[in-house]
Amino acid sequence: MIKNPVPWPNGARCAAAITFDMDADSLIHLEHPKDSITRVSGISMLRYGPEVAVPRIVETYKHFGIKQTFFVPAWCIEQYPKAIETMLEGGHEVAHHGYIHENPTAAGREEEAYWLRRSIEIIERTTGQRPRGWRAPLYNFSNHSAELLAEEGFLYDASLMGDDVPYVLRTKNGDVIELPAHWGVDDWPQFVQSMDLDYMMPIKSAAAGLEVFKQEFDAMWEYGGLFVGVWHPFCTGRLARWMEVVKLIEHMLEKGGVWLAPMEEIAAHVKKCIDDGSYTPRIDRLPYYSERVSVMPLGGGGAKATE
Ligand SMILES: [Zn+2]
Repeated sequence: MIKNPVPWPNGARCAAAITFDMDADSLIHLEHPKDSITRVSGISMLRYGPEVAVPRIVETYKHFGIKQTFFVPAWCIEQYPKAIETMLEGGHEVAHHGYIHENPTAAGREEEAYWLRRSIEIIERTTGQRPRGWRAPLYNFSNHSAELLAEEGFLYDASLMGDDVPYVLRTKNGDVIELPAHWGVDDWPQFVQSMDLDYMMPIKSAAAGLEVFKQEFDAMWEYGGLFVGVWHPFCTGRLARWMEVVKLIEHMLEKGGVWLAPMEEIAAHVKKCIDDGSYTPRIDRLPYYSERVSVMPLGGGGAKATE
């Protein structure tokens, strides 16, 4: 089913990463810049992430002896230093997720580069290392993102959805490894209801939501893919859901042959396999288009679906 599985370390069948995007209340300030600070209930829901969920998540990782990746907007790094300390004490990767969850597709190249660089500095100052990976806020990967990532020396991106296995984003500035995910492994469609964020889903039971992720993982295990959970502390770090996550990690470990690792290690392994010729990835040249794709009007009247 997968034409070119990666040779995973120690003969593992598949790789898996549980990634958390710790957006905290950056989302609400971005969505409602005029009156965000009056939306106390919404803010409290999102602060649950750094205040309550992150320590719980890191504790569970410690219990299982695993290291994982947190994508954190730089504004949240400054706002919630204790949560970041907890991640770093646990030995986890803190990766780039924008400054305040701004939208790169709505910015020009220069503006995107400015926030990218400003956040790199904050991450470097806090963690002692430049970030190796980036996930676009809300998957808003722009036509400039890949080039800018290559320019800034990023090893990997975690925003795109183009394959079941890692592949390469090729730009005129160099290559970036893509560690893909998709909406099916994101926790918002399963669990998030927020009028403040204009996102209203019928909330599933914790078990039903996690069942979706378990099926996605099992398929990757079967065929040698890469499972990447795109989760959020305020959402999947809630108690009942977290109990189900513990069961999912147990399921992964019981199945065996699973390489659970931080994204930077997965990307470094993929790069090594590409360099030594043991893995031939698919290559996407970005940007996909340099001009607008438009439909030519038919007979001067334009095309209509009913005609
Ligand atoms: Zn996010």
